[in-house]
Amino acid sequence: RMFNELQELKGNIRVYCRIRPFLPGHGEKHSTVEYIGEHGELAVVNPSKQGKDRRRNFKFNKVFGPDSTQAEVYSDTQPLIRSVLDGYSVCIFAYGQTGSGKTYTMTGPNGASEEDWGVNYRALNDLFSISQNRRDSLIYKIQVQMVEIYNERVRDLLLSDVHYNTLKYFVSLDLHTLGIVSTVQPNGLAVPDASMHPVTSTSDVLELIDVGLKNRAVGATAMNERSSRSHSVVSIHVRGKDSHSGTALHGNLHLVDLAGSERVDRSEATGDRLREAQHINKSLSALGDVIFALAQKNSHVPYRNSKLTQLLQSSLGGQAKTLMFVQLNPDVSSYSETVSTLKFAERVS
Ligand code: ADP
Ligand code: MG
Repeated sequence: RMFNELQELKGNIRVYCRIRPFLPGHGEKHSTVEYIGEHGELAVVNPSKQGKDRRRNFKFNKVFGPDSTQAEVYSDTQPLIRSVLDGYSVCIFAYGQTGSGKTYTMTGPNGASEEDWGVNYRALNDLFSISQNRRDSLIYKIQVQMVEIYNERVRDLLLSDVHYNTLKYFVSLDLHTLGIVSTVQPNGLAVPDASMHPVTSTSDVLELIDVGLKNRAVGATAMNERSSRSHSVVSIHVRGKDSHSGTALHGNLHLVDLAGSERVDRSEATGDRLREAQHINKSLSALGDVIFALAQKNSHVPYRNSKLTQLLQSSLGGQAKTLMFVQLNPDVSSYSETVSTLKFAERVS
């Protein structure tokens, strides 16, 4: 079964849509997104139109309705995670407007119990338990990095807290200078200067991600909810050594909680806010262009147009596997953002 799953996934770019439920206290409203079927279909309903223009259908690899659980969402992701231990590179993204459930899918709600855990904790849990099961033949070493990309600058989120008193501590990595752009890093070292943390258990990881989230939040108070305007990237590097032959394999997994995709009203945004919006637009469209080029099997893939795509270059394309969670807010007021999110998703799938 596992072999078949891998065959099916190999070289594939998958797009899974997830529709967020209406939140408690917001009333039972009419959803602008209709979950249609088990084969990845959904329809978006334009509240201001009637007749045949009212509904527009889309189809993706999978659609998770508003009642889907974290465990259900993860069970379709699991084969990809397992492949990391076989030496594959995997990138998982969450895309969508602020409030659509990106962080919920990737990490879970604040203070999540195990049942509410998002993809990143479940993934690491699996990596540990599978590597334990294989320990007679393969010895694995697992290391974690976590960075944030804000206004095209990369910041290490796992340095000790003392560095986070001011925002001056952005690690401004010039990826071109570091030579990462043109070479595939054989050891899958995604961010040359970001700190690397060996982990041996899920609790190690919980602790680390907690530090990362806190460091991210420090910036947020100084700069008003910055987390929705930056990309966070958790990178897990796996090295497996065959205990008989001594041969080694390297796999890596990047879990990316993208900045909110909402368009900013140019007439209203000024200064920092406008600059942020322009950086986000630029990097999300660069990501879209890269995935589109890969899906089309174009010979030229435009990795160089953003820090995000440069950073992930060695894990996007080639034998690497990509999964995009496209998050949708069901509220009618989000209709136009929902349509633009779905158009982005349609283009890359
Ligand atoms: P984003 O990261 O895209 O800005 P969040 O993940 O923070 O959005 O989600 C916004 C709110 O909706 C949060 O309060 C979150 O807990 C809640 N939420 C999102 N998705 C779900 C879901 N599938 N089930 C229950 N609550 C959800
Ligand atoms: Mg978020």
